[in-house]
Amino acid sequence: GYRSRAAYKLRQLDETASLFDRNDTVVDLGAAPGGWLQVAAERVGAGGTVVGVDLQRIRDLDPDADGGEDDWGDGDVASVETIRGDMTEAKTQDRLRETIGDRGADVVVSDMAPNMTGEYNLDHARSVHLARQAFEVALDLLAPGGDLVVKVFQGQDLEALQDDIEAEFEYVRVVSPPASRDSSSEVYLVAKGLMTAPVEAGD
Ligand code: SAM
Repeated sequence: GYRSRAAYKLRQLDETASLFDRNDTVVDLGAAPGGWLQVAAERVGAGGTVVGVDLQRIRDLDPDADGGEDDWGDGDVASVETIRGDMTEAKTQDRLRETIGDRGADVVVSDMAPNMTGEYNLDHARSVHLARQAFEVALDLLAPGGDLVVKVFQGQDLEALQDDIEAEFEYVRVVSPPASRDSSSEVYLVAKGLMTAPVEAGD
């Protein structure tokens, strides 16, 4: 089984937007306890690479375990590496970049969420801050044509974030997967096809 109900949200997002291909390299930000890691590892298969980052330690995923939460997939799953750290810190970003290497990532997904205070504007602002961090990481690590999925709580700064992401990708959609509709104000921005920087005109 999956380690989190959140896993079903990523499955739905993948069905809607065709995120994962076999052998892809996937970066998962805010990955604990690991449900999204399991879904990504299944979708990319044994030839793929999945790297998860979280403030919390993520228990090793062992697809060979029989029974229990680690009994998932059909054996054809990617190995998963995890990094414990704060994605807003340069040292964590550096470790992630070293882990991914020159090849770059095909997909960056972020389910990062702040600790909720219940104060709507503050929770929204902190969520947008984490989403912008994920966007920066995506610009840094994604290969051209790569995709980004990022969770954000709805509010006044959502549109500006969407506009900024739209400037870098072929298109962006705001998706509310059925598995998350009962809860909260969360939505996912699904950005497909990182564009390469335009070549400067002139010399
Ligand atoms: N997608 C995960 C799954 O399926 O198991 C659930 C993710 S949970 C909703 C959000 C996670 O974001 C938490 O584990 C939290 O520790 C992490 N997080 C929040 N801020 C972070 C940060 N600055 N750096 C890294 N992880 C962060």
